[in-house]
Amino acid sequence: MARYTGSVCKLCRREGEKLFLKGERCFTSKCAFERRAYAPGQHGRFSETRRRRESDYNRQLRAKQKARRIYGILEKQFRRYFALAVKQRGQTGANLLIILETRLDNVVFRMGFAVNRTQARQMVNHGHFIVNGRKSDIASMLLKEGDVLTVREGSKKNSLFQDLSERAEKTNCALWIERDLKNLSSRILRAPERGEIDGNLNEQLIVEYYSR
Ligand code: SF4
Repeated sequence: MARYTGSVCKLCRREGEKLFLKGERCFTSKCAFERRAYAPGQHGRFSETRRRRESDYNRQLRAKQKARRIYGILEKQFRRYFALAVKQRGQTGANLLIILETRLDNVVFRMGFAVNRTQARQMVNHGHFIVNGRKSDIASMLLKEGDVLTVREGSKKNSLFQDLSERAEKTNCALWIERDLKNLSSRILRAPERGEIDGNLNEQLIVEYYSR
């Protein structure tokens, strides 16, 4: 599956804010954005002046890119999610965010089983999870209410999972997921509500971007 393989810190610098793509490092002075809070590239330092004159299109584009980068999704797939959100009942923007949140890799991250979404995706791709009794290694799989996610029995011996319950205990689990650390499993209680989706995202601008 295609994915972005460049420096993730550059993405934060490009968006002009911390997107917290790395995990713990993002909260330390080693964070690249703390040291160089300007866009990457030769003219990065001067882009602040340009930002002040941002057009509507630019704001919409940046809102879309930010969401894409936070969830680690390429344009083609993101556009597909938007088309799916349009077809669903309710507000397109909110539908889009719910789709992004309920991706299997994001659920693993929200359960506190991975330090960031990149690690969560890798864990899924390596076949460590079972959804509703079946091995699931597709990070883009969308989970729904009632779905049960467990760590594969064979994977529990893997160093990644050995002290996972102690590590995960220190992290918050999303309120729409019921986490069982003893059995390294979880159940989707319901779809996430808008207020439970962080990341300072502006879904309205994303809708405007794709509705041009
Ligand atoms: Fe962004 Fe984290 Fe890198 Fe800082 S350390 S620039 S918040 S990904």
